[in-house]
Amino acid sequence: MTEFELISRYFAAQSFTRDDVRLGIGDDAALVRVAADSETAITTDVLVAGVHFFEDADPSAVGHKALAVNLSDLAAMGAEPAWFLLDLTLPEADTSWLQRFTEGLFSVARRYNVQLIGGDTARGPLSIAITAIGRVPEGKSLLRAGARPGDAVYVTGTLGDAALALADRRGERRLTAPERAALRDRLERPLPRVAEGMALRDLASSAIDVSDGLLADLGHVLAASGVGARLTLGAIPLSATYRARLSEVGWDYALAGGDDYELCFTVPPGQPAEIDALARRLDVPLTAIGEITSGRALEIYDEAGRAYQPKGQGYDHFGSASAGTSAG
Ligand code: ADP
Ligand code: MG
Repeated sequence: MTEFELISRYFAAQSFTRDDVRLGIGDDAALVRVAADSETAITTDVLVAGVHFFEDADPSAVGHKALAVNLSDLAAMGAEPAWFLLDLTLPEADTSWLQRFTEGLFSVARRYNVQLIGGDTARGPLSIAITAIGRVPEGKSLLRAGARPGDAVYVTGTLGDAALALADRRGERRLTAPERAALRDRLERPLPRVAEGMALRDLASSAIDVSDGLLADLGHVLAASGVGARLTLGAIPLSATYRARLSEVGWDYALAGGDDYELCFTVPPGQPAEIDALARRLDVPLTAIGEITSGRALEIYDEAGRAYQPKGQGYDHFGSASAGTSAG
């Protein structure tokens, strides 16, 4: 199979068309129309086999996650995803791998109405780089730098499930089969909080997606905003599966585990009713976990009011020796 055949069979043929794409795959560059009163949000993430995903991972899960992690970054900006580019290096033209990979990739593309408009394909060690492009009304994007003392700190969904699933996969923990089934999609097929990010444009003062662990990612918000935070340990939202294991595994998967792809955001005081209404409308838990402070520290207190010291601080590709899967 030539490179051209591969592109046309697996990428061009499966892509769908948005009205704002004048020219997608097939020319020297894609052409898209941008609205005059919006800003364009652009982000990229690379996934390398053996670093971000297991070599023998289900290719459809790899395709799903490769796009999902990029859409999560757009969600954290409050942007609406529109288009993406795919740069693929493959050791060989493995048709069954490509078939499965594109199934996962395009299932996410269709779900979020984001069109593949181009890319590049080359022979090399398996790696997948995606660039996702979205738009946000001018001046409405959610930045890391907007948190102010007194703001409430919130997270979407539940934290730590992906890290717990990964620990099980690595043999560091042993989950039962039903627990494993309950958590597997949290690790392999995260669903980025795009609708949530867009809805938060007029409510949140800052936002970030939780890809490297709550403490690490909230830490970026605090550093960018020049503030601190005080969190309540017992308020961190956990899934039923995690909660049932809490006394054994502790809080650190939720605090410092990666790959959640939830949003952590701050809200100026006095808007709990708006947040509750949003949670109901989107049918997603939005949980207040603490408050922004005027210090610089990130402090966590347990139920007894004691300062809690987590073991991990999040995943860092160059700072930590342990291999992980975090792609954000
Ligand atoms: P060029 O030589 O101009 O870079 P290519 O032969 O690499 O062109 O690509 C031809 C067309 O196919 C371009 O429109 C490019 O964007 C698209 N393309 C190549 N690889 C991919 C891919 N992995 N996914 C989507 N589109 C791709
Ligand atoms: Mg090319």
